[in-house]
Amino acid sequence: MDSTLASVRALLRQASRIAALTGAGISAESGVPTFRGAGGLWRNFRAEDLATPEAFARDPKLVWEWYGWRRSLIAEAEPNAGHRALADFEQRGRDFTLITQNVDGLHDRAGSRNVLKVHGDIWTQRCVACGREREDRSAAIDGVPRCAPCGAMERPGVVWFGEGLPESVWQRAQDAAARAQVFLVVGTSAVVYPAAGLAGLAKSAGAAVIEINIAETPVSAAADYSLRGPSAELLPQLI
Ligand code: NAD
Ligand code: ZN
Repeated sequence: MDSTLASVRALLRQASRIAALTGAGISAESGVPTFRGAGGLWRNFRAEDLATPEAFARDPKLVWEWYGWRRSLIAEAEPNAGHRALADFEQRGRDFTLITQNVDGLHDRAGSRNVLKVHGDIWTQRCVACGREREDRSAAIDGVPRCAPCGAMERPGVVWFGEGLPESVWQRAQDAAARAQVFLVVGTSAVVYPAAGLAGLAKSAGAAVIEINIAETPVSAAADYSLRGPSAELLPQLI
């Protein structure tokens, strides 16, 4: 393990263009539940059944209840050493792009400035009629929030299963993956597409892929280095 860590450190030291893709696992040690890990479910609902446009059309109040519950958990969470290590990395002045599937905002709170949020942000909400988007940092949500100018329902400003990714953010994420010399894949089960495809894109464009995860994933076999362990412990040792 130590020689693997040393090799990965050397790779990172030498690279001038680096990108990282993070998933729910990086926030697990902050106490934010993941979707697919142990303890990731709520009230016996499958996340996929709550995080879809169909679910919202069927029962917007239930969907908002779920997002309110998730917001209240996230509001209590603090960024961990893994988030902070990636924020430090950005400050070293190299070409570093942080791409996250997380909606929790913990990378921002750890000090990362340039975060490509490919799945949106749980602290924003968007009007289903006029598209107006606004930030709302209140954890508790009473019923279904309404758009002040037009009175229509607001939905969470996140990307649901079956929806497309925000176009310009996704384009920048692909560009960063394609130009990276080293691509880090941290705490993601790598099964939610298209985000999961970024590691393959980076690899085929010539990047060394380094995975950090407590468990094996579909990325593991193709990764140049697959580090097994919690990201809050491993990332500070690499960066
Ligand atoms: P996921 O729940 O599918 O997978 C989590 C991954 O993290 C697993 O592979 C697991 O082995 C790994 N993991 C768990 N604890 C870890 C740790 N301490 N260190 C390193 N790895 C650890 O999450 P995903 O791949 O991000 O994809 C699911 C989707 O769920 C995303 O679209 C995301 O938007 C959404 N989501 C976001 C949050 C959040 O914002 N924090 C939380 C849950 C789900
Ligand atoms: Zn509106």
